Amino acid sequence: ATMPPLLSAIANAGRHGVLVKSAVVMERLGQIDAVALDKTGTLTEGTPRVTDVRPLTGAGPTGLTGPTGLTGATEPAGLTEDGLLSLAAAAEHPSEHPLARAIVAAARERGLVLPDVRDFSSAPGVGVTAVVDGRTVAVGAPARLLADAADPAVAMVVGELEAGGRTAVLVQCDGVPVGVLGIADRLRPDAAATVAALTTLTGTAPALLTGDNPRAAARLAAEAGITDVRAGLLPQDKVAAVREREAAGRKVLVVGDGVNDAPALAAAHTGLAMGRAGSDLALETADAVIVRDELATVPAVVALSRAARRLVV
Ligand code: ADP
Ligand code: MG
Repeated sequence: ATMPPLLSAIANAGRHGVLVKSAVVMERLGQIDAVALDKTGTLTEGTPRVTDVRPLTGAGPTGLTGPTGLTGATEPAGLTEDGLLSLAAAAEHPSEHPLARAIVAAARERGLVLPDVRDFSSAPGVGVTAVVDGRTVAVGAPARLLADAADPAVAMVVGELEAGGRTAVLVQCDGVPVGVLGIADRLRPDAAATVAALTTLTGTAPALLTGDNPRAAARLAAEAGITDVRAGLLPQDKVAAVREREAAGRKVLVVGDGVNDAPALAAAHTGLAMGRAGSDLALETADAVIVRDELATVPAVVALSRAARRLVV
């Protein structure tokens, strides 16, 4: 027997490096007429690197000793670079987020020994908290962690890093800001070509939905040829952005990798997850998974679906 068109299309998609979970999904891929891309790990390579380690002097906690090298009670507060990095890395160690992996890798490169961590928890789109050396450490988006976002010492460093296109990550110890990390990620080499191909296929330019800061987002979007940018989004805001478009009659394809993308992947007409760096939740929630780590596979599977649907009729 000859294979039904949608099944051969699934086999074909597999050869292109995309795991399509069912014939229904294979068919739906060809119906989409709008695309929303996540930034970190989707539009970017997902292997960000720590470029800046900035302890905040005069703002740190006191009375800390131990493997993080925190200063003693009598010294003016403030961590060394290594102290700040090992504290952040310890708290991030259990996390699978690309930023967490970057922070842990940076600590390893410096040969730092990470202190034990307990009571880890993470909030998608915000950051993580954990108890390190008996102190509650929070690492995440400055605007979301900081009760007083206008703290001048923090705002200055964060502003400088973000102006340089970095993702600024704040480190707090027992509620006190102790430092800021600058992290940079590269655009995928096939991002601009993919954006152009998707624009041609759907007749609409893809949108960027990200939890990252507006400046880093705008800079990266411009490199990829995207003008429709929504930044500072929590997982539910990504869902709202998708629903808005679907309410306007669009069939939206969401491409994402993170735990924070899972609700949007589920809400979208079709959800596609990046397999290599993708979180388990994103892979399970998505309708299809990009196994070969290339963004260019996205327009390829949409085209495959359309071709198969023409044969089905
Ligand atoms: P994106 O939507 O671009 O993939 P996320 O929603 O995953 O980004 O993250 C949004 C922001 O939340 C990050 O830029 C960072 O500031 C913060 N964040 C989320 N998870 C973490 C983490 N594990 N460590 C530090 N910061 C985090
Ligand atoms: Mg992401």
